Amino acid sequence: MSIFSWPTHGSYYLGLLEPEDLEICPYDPNHRMPASRLQYHLASCRKKNPKIAKKMANCKYNACHVVPIKRLKEHEANCVNRTAIDDGEQG
Ligand SMILES: [Zn+2]
Ligand SMILES: [Zn+2]
Repeated sequence: MSIFSWPTHGSYYLGLLEPEDLEICPYDPNHRMPASRLQYHLASCRKKNPKIAKKMANCKYNACHVVPIKRLKEHEANCVNRTAIDDGEQG
């Protein structure tokens, strides 16, 4: 005989997983995954959401940064990865 009807079903995992570790997919906020998987996910999710992808652009400093085209310049101006690249732009 086994009894699995614990009264505490629900939020016992709160505190074990920090949501801060998960990146939110720019194509669908319901998609959340570790940053290490985001790049792979973006490639496939972009294909599944071509309409959204049309309106999005990749940050030139970090391929994992996908932002609305309207906000791309704004993002790149403030991108956290911006300092990783020397200002050696070649036309
Ligand atoms: Zn996604
Ligand atoms: Zn960026």
